[in-house]
Amino acid sequence: MIKFCSLFSGSSGNVIFVSDGETRILIDVGISTKRIIEALHSINEDPSLLNAVLITHEHIDHIAGAGSISRRFNIPIYANEGTWNAMEYGLGNIKDKNRVVFSTNEQFYIDDILVHAFPIPHDAAEPVGYNLYAANRKITVATDMGKMDATLMGRMEKSDLLMLESNHDVEMLMNGAYPWPLKKRISGGNGHLSNDTAARVVTSLAKKNVSAFILGHLSRENNSPGLAERTTCDMLEENDIRPGRDIYLDIALRERHSRVVTV
Ligand SMILES: [Zn+2]
Ligand SMILES: [Zn+2]
Repeated sequence: MIKFCSLFSGSSGNVIFVSDGETRILIDVGISTKRIIEALHSINEDPSLLNAVLITHEHIDHIAGAGSISRRFNIPIYANEGTWNAMEYGLGNIKDKNRVVFSTNEQFYIDDILVHAFPIPHDAAEPVGYNLYAANRKITVATDMGKMDATLMGRMEKSDLLMLESNHDVEMLMNGAYPWPLKKRISGGNGHLSNDTAARVVTSLAKKNVSAFILGHLSRENNSPGLAERTTCDMLEENDIRPGRDIYLDIALRERHSRVVTV
């Protein structure tokens, strides 16, 4: 059994907790150690039992607390070479033994959790999504992506749980207050996934028997939890798939932990 919880999600900071009961890891640490400790306590987890931190990419909403949590609990930070080079200056002093470099697309173990980092299209040095395999389950985390393609769909298929980005509503983004270059960046191929794209991905994977989804990394300015959920639910229902009956669907919250999922 895998326990999964998005502790914080969005441009103000991202942290995901995953455990198979033996090994406990965080994916991204974009929030202060104090708030992570509080969030872990509130889902009945002991922060001192954390085994490792995995980083997707060097943007500040994914690494702001990584150095501090590594020092506080003496745990390793795992990232690929490109991400290490881009983020290292911002982490402060990290012990050599807590600085682990992996290769994208090469599988490795953190204790009994098998990890596969796969490349995603985003405007960072070497951004990745993660497949985690443990307890006969496959968990996929893929946020901060400008577009979807067949290879990425392949990485998400057969997941027991997928956390996927549903960043913005295209109309809100285009009609909103952001300057044009920022609008272009967010909606571009190395930016962020829209609600419409997320809805299409979820619907297509639900037809292929993926049965649990969390939509995350919602924009504060150009989205709302209700709108993201409605966009995906509408497309699912057009395909006669009903959340709650046929699949599990939840929205990751910005400032507090979301529902704990066990798969
Ligand atoms: Zn981000
Ligand atoms: Zn990013």
